[in-house]
Amino acid sequence: MYALSEEHRAVREAVRALCDAKVAPHAGEVDETGSFPQASYDALAAADFAAPHIPEAYGGAGADALATCLVIEEVARACAASSLIPGVNKLGTLPLLLSGSEELKARYLPPVAAGRAMFSYCLSEPEAGSDAAAMRTRAVRDGDAYVLDGVKRWITNAGVSQYYTVFAVTDPDRRAGISAFVVDRDDDGVSFGAPERKLGIKGSPTREVYLDRVRVPADRMIGAEHTGYATALRTLDHTRVTIAAQAVGIAQGALDFALAYARERRQFGRPIADFQGLQFMLADMGMKVEAARQLTYAAAGRSERDDPDLAFFGAAAKCFASDTAMQVTTDAVQVLGGYGYTHDYPVERMMRDAKITQIYEGTNQVQRIVMARQLLAGVQSRV
Ligand SMILES: Cc1cc2nc3c(=O)[nH]c(=O)nc-3n(C[C@H](O)[C@H](O)[C@H](O)COP(=O)(O)OP(=O)(O)OC[C@H]3O[C@@H](n4cnc5c(N)ncnc54)[C@H](O)[C@@H]3O)c2cc1C
Repeated sequence: MYALSEEHRAVREAVRALCDAKVAPHAGEVDETGSFPQASYDALAAADFAAPHIPEAYGGAGADALATCLVIEEVARACAASSLIPGVNKLGTLPLLLSGSEELKARYLPPVAAGRAMFSYCLSEPEAGSDAAAMRTRAVRDGDAYVLDGVKRWITNAGVSQYYTVFAVTDPDRRAGISAFVVDRDDDGVSFGAPERKLGIKGSPTREVYLDRVRVPADRMIGAEHTGYATALRTLDHTRVTIAAQAVGIAQGALDFALAYARERRQFGRPIADFQGLQFMLADMGMKVEAARQLTYAAAGRSERDDPDLAFFGAAAKCFASDTAMQVTTDAVQVLGGYGYTHDYPVERMMRDAKITQIYEGTNQVQRIVMARQLLAGVQSRV
């Protein structure tokens, strides 16, 4: 991937213009108040950017993996919390797209494409994070339905989303005897915990999802029985690329702000941008952001083609881009000196927001496990 196509450039310009006008102005307030970025959702949905990946056959914009990354990157550059709207809509619906029946896709994807509903992904539990297969939520067959019982933890957009892909154990006698189901917020027995009080992405709601004898018709199972864990992992191979895009966007936002500040701020009678010590720091920031972006776009190409080496590239892009976002946003605070440490400037928010990209959809330790496994199996190819 050496150059974006005209079409991809047009997508990037359109999202950037929309975010400058309608997302960035609310980013500080969304962080301060910890409120869901409804204005971002409305603007993104009106422009078909809230779930751009949904195929045209289901009423969506049909954006490919790279275009979806460009949307997420540009939204994250303005407001990381808002970028979880397109990001988690992809995460929540991808199990359906990868493994669901035509009938399920036709029923649940059009409202998401039309901006009338959001979709969350419920894998993690209080005692099952990195070891997600150790989940305890059970789904027990009862006539023409399954009865779901358990607690899902850390669910992004919980309460706001109408639909949930829920992973639950259907065969406790084997490891990962897990199936996936579509659960509706309005199903009897579904409720939510209090919003988590977080370090960053404060405008993105993170809550527990409680499933108390929730009766789900058997035709809401995604794919065949006991294949849910394979679907969960394949989904993450693809969506780690979107987390990488989110991280690139956060880092780019911090770099842009640091560059502008360094040109304006004067000490010792000249702009601080004149000092080589700062120039070297800015150069390193720009170099890392561009390297992260290239790896992310290379991974997006593999996601689009569903290449066998997507697992390596998705993990590598997510790990590298999130580490980059953490370094670059921390350096941006340094470029602003004491001002960077205050809420009066956005770089401390970006630094707090960057941290989550090293943790969710598999911590960066887990990404390294995935990469090593792929390398040792000889699966990784070269560009
Ligand atoms: C804000 C937020 C939003 C989230 N959104 C969602 C969501 O929408 N849906 C969802 O299902 N989940 C979501 N998650 C959950 C997230 O994916 C998990 O937090 C993550 O996978 C880590 O699990 P854990 O927190 O239980 O940490 P643990 O698994 O307990 O890990 C603790 C530490 O041990 C390390 N570790 C664990 N195992 C190993 C190992 N084998 N080798 C080396 N180190 C290891 C980890 O890297 C980490 O540093 C979200 C989390 C947060 C904080």
